[in-house]
Amino acid sequence: MTQQLTAVVTGASSGIGAATARALAGAGYHVFCAARRAERIEALAAEIGGTAVVTDVTSQQSVEDLAAVVGERLDVLVNNAGGAFGLAPVAQADTDDWRRMYDVNVIGLMQVTRALLPALVASGAGAIVNVGSTAGRIAYEGGAGYTAAKHGTKVVTETLRLELWDQPVRVMEIAPGMVRTEEFSLVRFEGDQARAEAVYEGVAEPLVAEDIADAITWMVTRPAHVNVDSLVIKPRAQAAQHKVYRG
Ligand code: NDP
Repeated sequence: MTQQLTAVVTGASSGIGAATARALAGAGYHVFCAARRAERIEALAAEIGGTAVVTDVTSQQSVEDLAAVVGERLDVLVNNAGGAFGLAPVAQADTDDWRRMYDVNVIGLMQVTRALLPALVASGAGAIVNVGSTAGRIAYEGGAGYTAAKHGTKVVTETLRLELWDQPVRVMEIAPGMVRTEEFSLVRFEGDQARAEAVYEGVAEPLVAEDIADAITWMVTRPAHVNVDSLVIKPRAQAAQHKVYRG
C-alpha cells in the first residue's frame, strides 16, 4: 500500500487556509489543520478527515508541539497564517501592531518552517508554499507595517530556496491581490464591518479563498522537479494595487 501524502496548513481556521485544507484533502492529502481557534479547526478536520492541531505560530513551544504531532515525514507545508493589523500612516504607526504583523507573517513562518523542515526533507519530495501578498511587491499609503512584513515573507522564501538548493524540497510563494475573505479586513480594522466592506465596494468579482486554494493545490501537485518560484494572482478588476475597477 502506498503511504497517504500529508500536508500542514497554518491559519486553517478561516479564509484561504480553510479553503486550502479542503482543496488539498480533495486532492488526496491527509491535512493537519493548524490555527489557534480549536472549534473551527476541529470542525474542519472532521469534515475533511484531517487532524486538528491547535497552534500559535508565534509560539515556539506550540510549533514544536505541532511538529511532534506531524511526525517524521511531511510532503507539503502551506505557511498561510498571517494578516494585517491597522492602516495607519508611518507618522501615526502603532508599534504593537507592527510587531504583531512581523511576528505572525515572518517569525511565525520561520518557526513553522524550521520545525517541519526535517520531515519535509525526509519525504524525499517536500513542498513549501508561503502565502505572501501583492503587498510584498509594492507600497501603499498606510500599509507600511503590512507591506514590510509581506516583503519579509517574500525575501525569506527566496533565501530559503537558495539555502535548500541541494535538498529535495521545493520552496514557493503565492502572492495574492484582493481576496474577499470573511475575516481578513475585519481583523485589519478591528471588527469595523463598514470599513472592512468598503475595501471590496463595487468590485463585482474579487478573488475568493477557493481561487487561492486552487492555485496552491496546482503548485504543490506539479512534478517534484517543477518549482513555481512565485505566483502573483489578482482579480481581473485589479489591474494594479491602486487601480481597481469598481463598477
Ligand atoms: P483570515 O483573517 O481569514 O485568516 C487568517 C488565518 O491566520 C486565520 O485562520 C487565523 O486563525 C490564522 N492566524 C492568525 N494568527 C495566527 C497565529 N498566531 N497562529 C496560528 N494561526 C494564526 O485571512 P485570509 O484567509 O484572507 O488570509 C490568509 C493569508 O493570506 C494571510 O497570510 C494574509 O496575509 C494573506 N493574504 C490575504 C489577502 C486578502 O486579500 N485576503 C491578500 C493577500 C494575502 P486563528 O485566529 O484561529 O489563529
